[in-house]
Amino acid sequence: MIQPELSLLQFKKRFGTERACQNALEKMRWPEGFQCPKCQHIKATRIKTRRLLQCSKCHFQVSLTSGTIFHKTRTPLQKWFWAIYLASQDKGGVSAMRLSKQLELGYKTAWAMLHKIRKAMAQRDNGYTLSGFIELDDAFFGGAAKGRRGRGAANKTPVLVMVESKGEHAGFITMQTVESMERPQVETLVKKHIAPAQRIRTDGYKSYAGLTEMGHRHDGNPVPANKASEDLPWVHTAISNAKRFLLGTYHGVSHKHLQRYLDEFCYRFNRRAWEKQITLRLLTACIFASPITYAELKA
Ligand SMILES: [Zn+2]
Repeated sequence: MIQPELSLLQFKKRFGTERACQNALEKMRWPEGFQCPKCQHIKATRIKTRRLLQCSKCHFQVSLTSGTIFHKTRTPLQKWFWAIYLASQDKGGVSAMRLSKQLELGYKTAWAMLHKIRKAMAQRDNGYTLSGFIELDDAFFGGAAKGRRGRGAANKTPVLVMVESKGEHAGFITMQTVESMERPQVETLVKKHIAPAQRIRTDGYKSYAGLTEMGHRHDGNPVPANKASEDLPWVHTAISNAKRFLLGTYHGVSHKHLQRYLDEFCYRFNRRAWEKQITLRLLTACIFASPITYAELKA
């Protein structure tokens, strides 16, 4: 779907009232026009807060927000749409603190909204598997201690990083936190995120030893740490960009929520060629994402 670029003023004009957001939501969810899921009748009226559609024939009611990340929200849609605008426009992302000030929301509400948006981003990217020539490496995120990256470093979360290398540029990327860098954990993630029978380059770490057995063409040279960035250039660029992203806007994040911030980084990285369309793409992602509760976010 080709999406136009929207300036702040255009965005305000298009989604500037609660009614306009409701209309937009209805149009995006039913692009061919509403059809009653029960009796297939095509006429409906909006009732109560107008977040409900009622079939004019059988009176079946459908919530405008059901099946979207806005489901059961008490926050006006207008604020949600602005949150998506702000989250998408700045390459560095937006912090919950800034969002709460700009949209006059409580911090907890702003925090949960941003995490729901990240969840929608992740759902969008999780439908994709990497293929072609893939660079694969692990990185360690978080923890106070600086110093060389290393397997088993204290306070740090291991993350498996996979990038499609297209030579001059990188293709699709994914970063996944992993309980440990043991072979079964690594292989589970490879199976989930990389298509069968691809070409994978890693260093010589023992947990990558089974990739050939899994059906991939594996090139796993033992490389000294100071040469690793030459051998796996895209993975290393991605890791340092992700670390900068986490420190910049979010001043580092806890182990518990690291995956969602990595999802946000990868979502944006994967759409860097469509930067101008990213707001409407993200709005679409939020509308077609499955709902998540605050309790699930905190878990
Ligand atoms: Zn009906």
